[in-house]
Amino acid sequence: MNYKISQRAASLAPSLTLAIDSKAKAMKAAGEDVVGFGAGEPDFDTPQHIKDAAAKALASGFTKYTPSSGIPELREAVAEKFKRENGLTYKPSQIVVSCGGKHSCFNVILATCEAGDEVIIPAPYWLSYPEMVKLAGAKPVILPTTDKTEFKVTPDQLKAAITPHSRLFILNSPSNPTGSVYTPEEVKALGDICVEKNVLIMSDEIYEHLLYDNAKVKSVASFSQAHQDHTIIVHGFAKAWSMTGWRLGFLAAPEPIAKAIDALQSHSTSNPTSFAQKGGVAALTGPQDHLKTWLVEFDKRRRHAHAQLNAMPGISCVNAKGAFYLFPNIARTGLKSADFCARLLEQQKVAAVPGIAFGADDYIRLSYATSMANIEKGLDRMNAFCRSLAA
Ligand SMILES: *Cc1c(COP(=O)(O)O)cnc(C)c1O
Repeated sequence: MNYKISQRAASLAPSLTLAIDSKAKAMKAAGEDVVGFGAGEPDFDTPQHIKDAAAKALASGFTKYTPSSGIPELREAVAEKFKRENGLTYKPSQIVVSCGGKHSCFNVILATCEAGDEVIIPAPYWLSYPEMVKLAGAKPVILPTTDKTEFKVTPDQLKAAITPHSRLFILNSPSNPTGSVYTPEEVKALGDICVEKNVLIMSDEIYEHLLYDNAKVKSVASFSQAHQDHTIIVHGFAKAWSMTGWRLGFLAAPEPIAKAIDALQSHSTSNPTSFAQKGGVAALTGPQDHLKTWLVEFDKRRRHAHAQLNAMPGISCVNAKGAFYLFPNIARTGLKSADFCARLLEQQKVAAVPGIAFGADDYIRLSYATSMANIEKGLDRMNAFCRSLAA
């Protein structure tokens, strides 16, 4: 049998993150004391009232198909969230609930991009964006940034990248993998260019609530009606409500795009899990107290890790104002990121993600969504590793 793999699937880059992750897991399973900095999810449990709402829905038989784009109650709660927190007015018909924020991103790219289109992606980027763009047949155009600009693209950089083929600009602030946060002024400057050049913006705002050092965020959609008309906001429950396994995300889009996405989704996944959606309603409409507690804890870890990293030979790290990642520069160690991470895992049993996975080979990603005890232990070991390199 010739198992011919489609060009579409065969062209996808294998996931470096997963390679390191499976090696770390295998070592753990073999009884080795591995410290993991690879987690892309909060280490806190989903708040109880959200679990209760889903459990109640399940027990009461809320187990059937729902409208493809989500139950009206949840789409209204999402529209309400955008009104309350972002000052944005959306009709429920402009909201699509999907099977995770990742699915929302995929839907947006598939509904708006095709062969011949260019999609502008600042690097370091979330590793799925370029692969999704390729799946849509379009071309990723990568804009490199460094820690010198806190990993932010400048308006001039964006302007220079725009061609008649530019279709979409992907903005992710706060960012995975760098944790960097664009100021409202910086977001507006980039949005202005997209409006002027008639380029759509996919604004991935899933880390909106995870901010430190009094950082402020403003959605690019919120600067004017024209900005909103050029923007699709992608969001989800995974990070601020710690619901990664629930597979529930949402987006807000201009009506024709929301309609196209609804059609796309109705022929692929159909609705996201019915009772999970009831949990989503509870997440948006219920108390948000959990977040304060989490942010205090995340902030403590972030400060500790940032200071420790900068004390290691060969390492420098800008402090991140959002998400739960730090993205230290390892260039002065003389190692490339995959080699650095492979040796760190082998010699010191510490798992981190090589920056090359995010299009930035001079860096590694450390997630501090793990206990302070783990962070202390892992960073002590990384320090020993860097000392051995410098010796
Ligand atoms: C986690 C994440 C998402 C969405 O994750 P889901 O689990 O699919 O909801 C989207 N964008 C970025 C940048 C993320 O880090």
